[in-house]
Amino acid sequence: MGQLNGRTALVTGASRGIGRAIALRLAAEGALLAVHYGSNEAAAKETIELIEEAGGRAFAIRAELGVPGDGATLWTRFDAGLRDIGAEAGLDILVNNAAIARSKDIDGVTTEEFDALFAVNVKAPFFIVQQGLGRIRDGGRIINISSGVTRIAYPETIAYSMTKGALNAFSLTLAKALGARNITVNSVSPGIVDTDVNADWLRDNPDVWAHVAAYSTFNRVGQPDDIADIVAFIASADARWISGQNIDATGGSQL
Ligand code: NDP
Repeated sequence: MGQLNGRTALVTGASRGIGRAIALRLAAEGALLAVHYGSNEAAAKETIELIEEAGGRAFAIRAELGVPGDGATLWTRFDAGLRDIGAEAGLDILVNNAAIARSKDIDGVTTEEFDALFAVNVKAPFFIVQQGLGRIRDGGRIINISSGVTRIAYPETIAYSMTKGALNAFSLTLAKALGARNITVNSVSPGIVDTDVNADWLRDNPDVWAHVAAYSTFNRVGQPDDIADIVAFIASADARWISGQNIDATGGSQL
């Protein structure tokens, strides 16, 4: 096994997309994986099957985020999941990955959409961390999945971009607060990645695909594994001296 042997990791939104790729990669390094999802149980089961087929260990946690009591539900089910498989209580790596996106400009965003974006993308990670701090062991890792839209302006996603800016401030500030416990806190900011959230406008449209690929200095569209490999590094012991940073994972987009 790998460099995360004996560690326990929780990845929110690990049923699909980038979260699934992160879960698979951390499990391949030896971590026991808590695979969180919102509603797509079949996809979460598939993530677990893929982990087990590769020789890893994982269990699922269902918890809708962005609703009252979301953090408490998540942690109650996390604790129960560990107990069910006879694993030691506690956590080493928390990846706040689950989020929703809305493509709306300043004129298009409703107050309901604004509140929903902040509830899932900002409030949920904040209280998941607050309520989970007693479980996270010293020397642990908190990794918040942010976005390249905090560096590159996209008026079409203004409210979503604001949620990711808030997450970056959270990473920076929390890193200072948790330094004494040797817990590192960082953001990882992907550019456009080929996942379900972009399927309708990106996947089946070769012209748009080529346009998006050209954002990157490598002239290709990002894949979930591109992000998972960076997260695995930040989660590793080798990244012990990096904290409070926003790591650009856009494939050198719009340099
Ligand atoms: P997907 O839409 O493919 O997957 C989202 C995941 O989050 C799913 O596992 C989903 O669970 C879960 N989720 C979403 N909303 C909720 C909720 N309210 N409660 C509980 N779980 C929820 O997302 P991506 O893989 O594309 O994105 C992952 C992260 O990367 C996000 O933080 C996103 O903002 C960020 N990002 C993505 C980019 C991209 O181009 N794809 C670019 C930059 C950043 P379920 O399967 O049950 O629905």
